[in-house]
Amino acid sequence: MSADYYATLGVERTATQAEIKKAYRRLAFQYHPDQNEGNKEAEEKFKQVSEAYGVLGDPQKREQYDRFGRVVDSPGGMGGDPFGGFGGGPGAGVPFTGFNDVFVDILNDLFGVHRRQGRARRGADLKYSLEIELEEAAAGAQRKITIPRFDLCGVCEGSGLKPGTSPQSCQTCRGVGQVRIQQGFFSVTRPCPACSGAGQIVTDPCEGCEGRGRLVREQELEVEIPAGVDDGQRLRWANRGEPGVNGGPAGDLYVVISVKEHKLFKRDGLSVQCTVPISFPQAALGAEIEVPTLQGKVRMKVPPGTQSHKVLRLKGKGMPSTDGRGQGDMLVTIVVEIPVNLSERQEELIRELAALSGAEVEPHRKGFLDKMKDLFSGG
Ligand SMILES: [Zn+2]
Ligand SMILES: [Zn+2]
Repeated sequence: MSADYYATLGVERTATQAEIKKAYRRLAFQYHPDQNEGNKEAEEKFKQVSEAYGVLGDPQKREQYDRFGRVVDSPGGMGGDPFGGFGGGPGAGVPFTGFNDVFVDILNDLFGVHRRQGRARRGADLKYSLEIELEEAAAGAQRKITIPRFDLCGVCEGSGLKPGTSPQSCQTCRGVGQVRIQQGFFSVTRPCPACSGAGQIVTDPCEGCEGRGRLVREQELEVEIPAGVDDGQRLRWANRGEPGVNGGPAGDLYVVISVKEHKLFKRDGLSVQCTVPISFPQAALGAEIEVPTLQGKVRMKVPPGTQSHKVLRLKGKGMPSTDGRGQGDMLVTIVVEIPVNLSERQEELIRELAALSGAEVEPHRKGFLDKMKDLFSGG
């Protein structure tokens, strides 16, 4: 590949990307097939100009071309001829296919098609962690949250430029966006430190956003937490995320619920578990006790002879399901407390009780003794 792309475009080897683009636009317009119907010479010229711009218009390919005098095949297989559609040779019909994005962009520009500043991109999704109480999860709640989000700067409409100004081509990298650094025998390419690889420098930054194009704004949002929401659940609000770029749609807002640990209750799906201690006489004789639930206190009957760790169920006193269909139960685990710090009289009564119980044993103990007998009877 011996073509001198700089000569083809009529620019210096030191030309900036902007100068190259400008030269290309002028020549492409001059030789464009639409302007020169049937003119084979113009068509050939147009191809050469396009080929030259396909390389010099791309800072990376230009870099390769400057160093090696040609462009090594890119992963897309385009190589030095970025316009696959032009492979027909001289005299072949020139279909307008196979352009890369830069090229289409410039053609649109040349022929008056409205040109957008780059591709439309969807805004980023935002994630907000919201901690709530189990009671709020059970009943549902309204919460005001403040989320910092990026908004387009209203002054420059996102360009970062002071209105009426345009960015300057970077002097350090000649608008290429990269600089070459000699290190012994090697030369390495680095993003240009002066322009951070952009190739352009904003000399008059917008005063509204200090050139960033975006501003962080605190946005207050009323969040409706549905009853039954569970720990780790994500609530999604469409289009409440960051604004899109170049007319793209906004992202979504996700509120991730984390439910605080509760002093008394443990949630398991739709069930709520609670451990309630009762006294030995209450367990033995039966009692009516007060039990806390997420919906307030309720009275519950403990039947006589209730064993420790027995689970009693309170229907419908658990968590509601988020789809509004049904309600879980409350599971009350009874723990029987053995009396401690006995008075003399209490101790006397318990000894009397033990003597009265005699050979009669409680159901759990009886099962245990039976099993032990099996174990040592030598089967
Ligand atoms: Zn601004
Ligand atoms: Zn630079």
